[in-house]
Amino acid sequence: MRYRRAIGFEIWHFQPLCTKWPRANFQEAVAKPRSEQACDECMARKHNRALSGASGRKKGRVAGGLVSLCGQLQAALTRRLAQVAKLARQLRPR
Ligand SMILES: [Zn+2]
Repeated sequence: MRYRRAIGFEIWHFQPLCTKWPRANFQEAVAKPRSEQACDECMARKHNRALSGASGRKKGRVAGGLVSLCGQLQAALTRRLAQVAKLARQLRPR
């Protein structure tokens, strides 16, 4: 997976479909950025992709998916996690 961030910005993007994916003047890396430096939209898109690959039975287990997606996150980031989940719902195609 590739990570990009626009020059002069702290936030790393890792989903090329992200509306903020840098196309010019960016820095690229193969190392995973720390979670607090990852783009919310990218995280939401990754979460939705994980969901769409799940079986119908597993689809109800959003909370479990979020926990595994953000297993590295610590308690201080719990509020941000809720924001990401909300954004994921907004981005999910109907
Ligand atoms: Zn992004």
